[in-house]
Amino acid sequence: MLLVSEPVLGDEEKAALAAVIESGWVTMGDRVREFEQAFARLHEAEDSVAVGSCTAALHLILHALGIGPGDEVLVPSLTFVATANSVLYVGARPVFVDIGSADVPLMSLDDAESKCTSRTKAIILVHFAGYLAHRDAWQSFARRKGLLLIEDAAHAPGLPEVGSYGEAAAFSFYGNKNMTTAEGGAIIARSRTLRETIRQARAHGMTSGARQRLTSRRPDYDVTILGFNYRMDELRAALGLVQLKKLPEWNDSRRRLSATYRELIAELCPSVMVPFEAPWPSTHHLLPIVLPPATSRQRIIDRLRKRGVQTTVHYPPVHRLTFYRDLYPELALPRTEDFARRELTLPLHPKMSTLDVDKVVDALAAALAADYPMGAVA
Ligand SMILES: *Cc1c(COP(=O)(O)O)cnc(C)c1O
Repeated sequence: MLLVSEPVLGDEEKAALAAVIESGWVTMGDRVREFEQAFARLHEAEDSVAVGSCTAALHLILHALGIGPGDEVLVPSLTFVATANSVLYVGARPVFVDIGSADVPLMSLDDAESKCTSRTKAIILVHFAGYLAHRDAWQSFARRKGLLLIEDAAHAPGLPEVGSYGEAAAFSFYGNKNMTTAEGGAIIARSRTLRETIRQARAHGMTSGARQRLTSRRPDYDVTILGFNYRMDELRAALGLVQLKKLPEWNDSRRRLSATYRELIAELCPSVMVPFEAPWPSTHHLLPIVLPPATSRQRIIDRLRKRGVQTTVHYPPVHRLTFYRDLYPELALPRTEDFARRELTLPLHPKMSTLDVDKVVDALAAALAADYPMGAVA
């Protein structure tokens, strides 16, 4: 079965893990620090903070920015549920914004504008599928409205402009992302003060870490802010250091595979729309397509599966998930809902070859042809 995503793990990762075990120091040591610096360098940032997940990263960012009860945060509904959950963790209210269009399924500036109130404090942008949100437009919007800009960059590690939009960006190293530490995340924050608050809140709000207490002569610490245990460990950092080296090359493979997909789909499946125009800056995390309105998506999914091709949907809109529907029973986001009904995510990962892309597009063309029996196509 050709999977939608697959981590690339091998001998180098095994050796890196073994070296940590042999070293006897398993968490928050030199490797975590080295990983933070290497991750920052790749994004042309001064520094980064490694954490346990992107969800923890989003929570820490909102917490450190002082967002809380009474505040509203603009978020897309076309995202993973963690984006909105993180807003609820700090006691604020996520306000869901519709996408602009099926061609560019990113948060709509116009809808964001119409949803601003005196309580709106921040925006969380999601670089959906790895396609970057419009930096200048969002920066000027945030400036005009006096809002904090945060990136949920779970889909977009490895491009220097990511992490430079606003206050901070959250990254994910979950198993299906562009690089993985199994579970893990990182934060890029431009202000040193914000970064240090985040670093402290990551480890219980303590003023020094175990490593520092070992190397300095003072065994004491203080807790000056509310913190959490959102640390990254040395095993994950060791995996991250290996994966990070390969990330640019993997993102490049993803770009080439995406270009092949676009060409073949245009040729063999002209009724299918591929969002985002080709030169759009992207880390190509996903290959989303939009099926024609009358197509039964489930039949296409079943036919592709029979031919050995797994597909998924990104995303069931967050505001339509039971927990959120109960909180926002009246909310309608027509463009998000229409997109989510017709979207299908095709396999895309660096282990694939262009022959695999051929196979997927052939299977898709056959599945679509079977959905429209001869004569039914006007
Ligand atoms: C995967 C993902 C997250 C959550 O990442 P974790 O590291 O699993 O916490 C958040 N936002 C988006 C858009 C994601 O795709």
